[in-house]
Amino acid sequence: MNINQKNHSLGVARSVIREIFEYGNSRAAVVGRENVYDFSLGNPSVPSPACIDETIARLVKEDTCAIHSYTSAQGAPATRKSIADNINARFGETATMDDIYITCGAAASLTITLHAVCNQGDRVIAFAPFFPEYKVFSEGAGAEFTIVPPSSDFQINFEELEKVLDSKTKAVIINSPNNPSGAVLTEATIIRLANTLKEKSEQFGHPIYLISDEPYRELVYDPSVKVPYVTRYYDNTFVCYSYSKSLSLPGERIGYIFVCNRMENNRDAYAAVCGAGRMLGFVCAPSLMQKVISENQNAVADLETYKLNRDLLYNALTEYGYDCIRPDGAFYLFVKSPEPDAKEFCKKAMALDLLLVPSDSFGCEGYIRISYCVSTDMIKRSLPLFKKLMDENY
Ligand code: PLP
Repeated sequence: MNINQKNHSLGVARSVIREIFEYGNSRAAVVGRENVYDFSLGNPSVPSPACIDETIARLVKEDTCAIHSYTSAQGAPATRKSIADNINARFGETATMDDIYITCGAAASLTITLHAVCNQGDRVIAFAPFFPEYKVFSEGAGAEFTIVPPSSDFQINFEELEKVLDSKTKAVIINSPNNPSGAVLTEATIIRLANTLKEKSEQFGHPIYLISDEPYRELVYDPSVKVPYVTRYYDNTFVCYSYSKSLSLPGERIGYIFVCNRMENNRDAYAAVCGAGRMLGFVCAPSLMQKVISENQNAVADLETYKLNRDLLYNALTEYGYDCIRPDGAFYLFVKSPEPDAKEFCKKAMALDLLLVPSDSFGCEGYIRISYCVSTDMIKRSLPLFKKLMDENY
């Protein structure tokens, strides 16, 4: 073949989630949209806060030439400063605009960071269950992708982590609140992880970077649940943030990387981020969106609907006999499959037009993911089907 074989394979293989979503669309054309219960995608279902649309409307009436023009490759200085100020105010950090690189969402934050730190053959470690694109992004950056199996509470399985941390390890990716488990890593977990990585970095004579993927940081539903800010515990951290979920703006492609300024050789690390952004063509994130987030740093979409949906689904499903941990954050319920093969269970659900995602692509078998960023009404109408599925089969 005269083209890149690896990228061709990625292009022709649609993700399982996309397959299910497309199937849902084809079924909707046959049985009607209201009769298809699609829990496959993680597309925010609450509107962006009103201030976002108001800012956009105002900005496009102002100097349109300026609003649509290029910014610096790493983002407009004023926007980077507003992000740094916000991080400092909320998390007691000492970020400056020179530690921030503005991106097209978390996907770009992750690919840039991985290309910034990895050389061919380095190891990147992620904890199952994980966002499936981590494997694609890590391998794309030339790394070997290694999976640590989950602990029963979806914190970190440290015994298994110790087994794979070696001198080739360049980075460890964490994601809290987690897609797909909804788990939030506790402070005790972060401290233990930081201590482990400090010890191993010393042993191997080079830093092991922590990449904290944080598109769901604000999506927690109980005031008692805290999401520790990782740089406070481990200096060699890259925070990969996105506004896709917190502001319901996934299509606008906006996020950032914060390169902790206490990182070893942090100026070189930041320069490598800028270089990776350049090499990948991820320069000058959308100018209009840069302005919008700059003016709305503390805005968050109304999360009440997600909390309502989580409680409704969790309470009903556990009552029907499903086994799952109550998720503290994100907008997914991760349910133990009533039969060992989650794909078989999802097929039975699909026959009822209940579209669920088997956990295999998240790096662990035997679970199903239910995205509850859907309408509360659809959840209510779907509950008898979940009950029927359990009662008639298990
Ligand atoms: N990381 C995780 C865990 C996600 O769930 C997603 C999207 O769903 C992303 C990264 C990519 O986010 P973005 O839309 O900001 O690129």
